Amino acid sequence: MKLENFQWDHDADGIVTLTWDMKGRPVNLLSMSAVADLGQVAETLAKDVTIKGLVITSAKDGNFCAGADLEEMAVYAGKPSAESVKAAFDLMMNVHKTFRKLETSGKPVAAALNGTALGGGLETALSCHYRVAVDDARSQFGFPEGQVGLIPGAGGTQRVPRLIGAMGALPFMLESRRIGAAEAAGMGLIHKVVPQAELIADAKAWVKANKSAGQPWDNRDFRIPGGGPFSTSGAQVFTVGNAMLRQKTYDNYPAQRAIMSCVYEGLLVDIDNGLKIEARYFVKMLMNPVSRNMIRTLFLSMQELGKGARRPQTEAPVDVKRLGVLGAGLMGAGIAYVSASAGIDVTLIDTTQERADSGKDHAAKLLDKQIARGKATPEEKVEILSHITATTEYAALKYVDLILEAVFEDRDVKAGVIGKADAVIGDRAVFGSNTSTLPISGLAETSTRPESFVGIHFFSPVERMGLVEIILGKKTAPRALAAAIDFTRKIKKTPIVVNDSRGFYTSRCFGTYTQEGLRMVAEGIVPPLVENAGRMAGMPMGPLEVLDSVGVDTALKITRAARKEVFKSETPDETEALMASLVEDAQRPGTKAGKGFYDYDERGKAARLWPEFLARKKNWRTDAEVQELITRLLVIQALEAARCFEEGVITDPRDADVGAILGWGFAPYTGGPISYIDTMGAKAFVALCERLSAAYGPRFAPNALLKDMAANGDNFYRRFGAKSAA
Ligand code: NAD
Repeated sequence: MKLENFQWDHDADGIVTLTWDMKGRPVNLLSMSAVADLGQVAETLAKDVTIKGLVITSAKDGNFCAGADLEEMAVYAGKPSAESVKAAFDLMMNVHKTFRKLETSGKPVAAALNGTALGGGLETALSCHYRVAVDDARSQFGFPEGQVGLIPGAGGTQRVPRLIGAMGALPFMLESRRIGAAEAAGMGLIHKVVPQAELIADAKAWVKANKSAGQPWDNRDFRIPGGGPFSTSGAQVFTVGNAMLRQKTYDNYPAQRAIMSCVYEGLLVDIDNGLKIEARYFVKMLMNPVSRNMIRTLFLSMQELGKGARRPQTEAPVDVKRLGVLGAGLMGAGIAYVSASAGIDVTLIDTTQERADSGKDHAAKLLDKQIARGKATPEEKVEILSHITATTEYAALKYVDLILEAVFEDRDVKAGVIGKADAVIGDRAVFGSNTSTLPISGLAETSTRPESFVGIHFFSPVERMGLVEIILGKKTAPRALAAAIDFTRKIKKTPIVVNDSRGFYTSRCFGTYTQEGLRMVAEGIVPPLVENAGRMAGMPMGPLEVLDSVGVDTALKITRAARKEVFKSETPDETEALMASLVEDAQRPGTKAGKGFYDYDERGKAARLWPEFLARKKNWRTDAEVQELITRLLVIQALEAARCFEEGVITDPRDADVGAILGWGFAPYTGGPISYIDTMGAKAFVALCERLSAAYGPRFAPNALLKDMAANGDNFYRRFGAKSAA
């Protein structure tokens, strides 16, 4: 027997230890070749009388198996030809056949989980009769498939509910929850948690003590825990589950619906037919553009950008060991915290020692929260805080590799700190600005080294948001870009690279969403309908709630500045007037004040739309088609992204799609605004824009690039040449 991915060790007791160790990878994947190996193993296990049982474990540090090989799956994704449907179905049925062989050989099979088992990794373990996991806080167990538009396809939707019941299985799979070993044991997914040193011994002892073994579902008396779909409790689970699913996803995510169907339909039949049902749904999801787009953006592109795909390869790595942060407010403190957590020494500067200290204190509070959640230790807190020096002294910046300014959004204030820092930092230091609106090329001119100046735009709250938008000024040199990307990767965030423009890429496109929502309200469409349309479109919040959270006052300031500086107009339009009436007449600037378009409760949660705002108008329009509102809200953002391509603000579809989903929560099921257009097709998108333009105004007019692509049957991923092209 020749195994590609496993080591085989047959001991004196007749127990085989199979150690998973995929070549050239830091983690194991359930690839086609791993399945082929397991097929041979299952065959030999059944036939060879000298083998008494099997223990499957892994040689990778902290990892049993990270899941299926998505790159292999992506080959079929979104291409529903008869051949690819058949090939994908056969592939999944082969996995089922292999796992069934493993669990029905009659001989005991134990999984010794030395670390994380996700997706196909957890499904491999579930095909074993016994699961023991190492006691390691790093370990994660779960099914992430739903996050890329797929379903657990290696038996997860059938084995998990048969093991723990549909009530526990459904939310676990639908929400792609990741849990630790203790919780997995509590749920009944694994049998035991032991210290590292006892792992293999425990698995072997179990094999020895269980000369023959089978799965509960192969037992003739098997009953589904908690009852099947037609039992009283089962009926409740599925009725309530369906309603909750609809409420949470608005049915934008076909995979979540398919998981529900697999569990429901699968529990009505035996395991073998259940697995066949799962394979059919899996292939159906794989052929759906939703999974193709989600896999591409949220897995492949994110991985490529995370590895530095946009980094100028000519530049040597820039290891930021010392960072200077100017401004210890909301953003500066957050940046200091994530940087110190990555082991970077941070000098945090503000105008007074008190303010600088309060920035450091913010980091301490975030760490306290982590400790309370069991995600950090008090020792780690001391260690991380020791990396932050809060001061008012610019001299302390002398040896920094990178500066990040996050002072007030005011050109003169920024110019002041840039000048002061410039005077002390070394020649090789790179200067980054976290400005949200001021052009980078202009700010760079206030520095003595515009070629070392680059925009490094974070999102709030810094510790939670995974994106950093890097903005190139006219003179930004490749080394400054390389430094910005290397720094972003060091703090474990995903960098996208854009060119300088008003609002850069993310704020500019995102602004069209709130603006369109305001226009709808100005048209007299009843606000709750507008808010619901936003959420139904797949956005995390309705346009008015987002405005509140950004600050209606901030949005008003930006709108006013754009009107005066770009449109050279003295007359505010209706949407600006709406914001001004809220901020200036009613003193309701948004969430931070507990009042904006919404009233907020003490925890800062939106309690209700402000009744007086609703009472301003007697004859709100309730007749608007919600689907039309959803279309307007998505198209206006996608169109702006297309304009950013035409103007060269953005140049790579991966940046555009990843930036949109991570940066402002653009409907993830679309795979991003560019995937949204490509999936519809440029021709259909242009026709849609023309219809909307005639109905609602020229802001919907398609640009020349889109028209050209429509005429040539082209798409963005092809034309703008991302590696993971469709
Ligand atoms: P903030 O008001 O919370 O913090 C600004 C800090 O800068 C304050 O602590 C202030 O004391 C300090 N400061 C002002 N002048 C200074 C000077 N001369 N020297 C040193 N420190 C000085 O503001 P923020 O929300 O953290 O925003 C900071 C920057 O980040 C702005 O450019 C903003 O546009 C940008 N930004 C903000 C967000 C956001 O959501 N808040 C998101 C992305 C980018």
